[in-house]
Amino acid sequence: MPVSDAWHQRLAQARLSRQQTQRWRTRGVVAAGTLDFAGNDYLGLAQDPRVSEAQAEGARRFGSGAGASHLVSGHLEIHEALENALARWTGRQRALLFSTGYMANLGVLQALANADTAIFQDRLNHASLLDGATLSGARSRRFHHRDANDLNRLMDRSQCSHKLVVSDGVFSMDGDGADIATLAQVSQRHRAWLMIDDAHGVGVLGDNGSGCVGTRWGSADVPVLVGTLGKALGTAGAFVAGDAALIEHITQFARSYVYTTAQPPSIAAATLKALEIVQGEPEHRDHLNANIAYFRRGALQLGLPLSTSTTPIQPLLLGSEDRTLGWAATLAKHGLQVGAIRPPTVPNGEARLRITLSARHGRRDIDRLLEGLNACQRAEATCHA
Ligand code: PMP
Repeated sequence: MPVSDAWHQRLAQARLSRQQTQRWRTRGVVAAGTLDFAGNDYLGLAQDPRVSEAQAEGARRFGSGAGASHLVSGHLEIHEALENALARWTGRQRALLFSTGYMANLGVLQALANADTAIFQDRLNHASLLDGATLSGARSRRFHHRDANDLNRLMDRSQCSHKLVVSDGVFSMDGDGADIATLAQVSQRHRAWLMIDDAHGVGVLGDNGSGCVGTRWGSADVPVLVGTLGKALGTAGAFVAGDAALIEHITQFARSYVYTTAQPPSIAAATLKALEIVQGEPEHRDHLNANIAYFRRGALQLGLPLSTSTTPIQPLLLGSEDRTLGWAATLAKHGLQVGAIRPPTVPNGEARLRITLSARHGRRDIDRLLEGLNACQRAEATCHA
């Protein structure tokens, strides 16, 4: 079969989610009359005028691009200031910026692991962590979701002298959290390093929004901490934080850090402002948490298939792909955008609506969402009648 035919077939089978939803949006949680419950802008900072203004000012001051990689001449004082602020925020000696979270995970794993390493990953870890492990050439094992006994069993069996345990902090499609205390304990028992990707925790959880690891767990327990900036921080990019020697090693050996143009300085300037807001204005987190509680109460009253997640990621487990697409289509007709998440992003039979809440949402927005979800249920009941 010619290559192009094979590609067409794969595309048709995948029924890419992009085809169901418009690929562009205008500004705000309300885009062209549609309420956004699909994004990761948990604190609404992507649309905070103070952050946009800092970005514009950053561009005026430092130019629109860094012009080179960090190790050549692209590392500007604004990058340095942001790295220092991120290290202080997370209680680490140093932090290192990457252009995206995907690149951070690829680079960190490729720098820390090789063919003599065994990497143990939670089954539900983000794709970038799985890809980073593949790229590193390490032996990869996946343990059952949040199952320390399974992790222990796999680690007991491993002959590798160098071991690395890797987990999302908050699982991106489920919204539940890793048990950091147990992971740290098991890792230490096996003299393994622990790496936590807290992409969905930073800004939202912990003291000062420093995440599920942040200031709560130090480098002795979680030596490798990754956070992203494109979610609650509202900008783009990522960082890895840890002891100075670790960060120096990653600086020298992470290929996705070394061989790429540094983050635009305007993004670093915007992120510094976002970080200042995250630390100085806890009311956004309070409002977000009130929204989460309000949504969960309403959804429980409607008998919706809620998970136990208490984070802004509130999946509704619908099971089949058709059902999930049907609900997403009904919600779209009500002017509500949610993520319709299907295999291979989640396991077979576990398709779901990924609803995300933001501090930008008001009570009325959530009421509209609940009404839309109720309409989905009613439409199904009519079909089955
Ligand atoms: N890690 C996790 C857990 C994520 O959910 C994501 C983004 N979906 C990433 C890493 C990648 O981050 P970025 O979008 O900055 O590449």
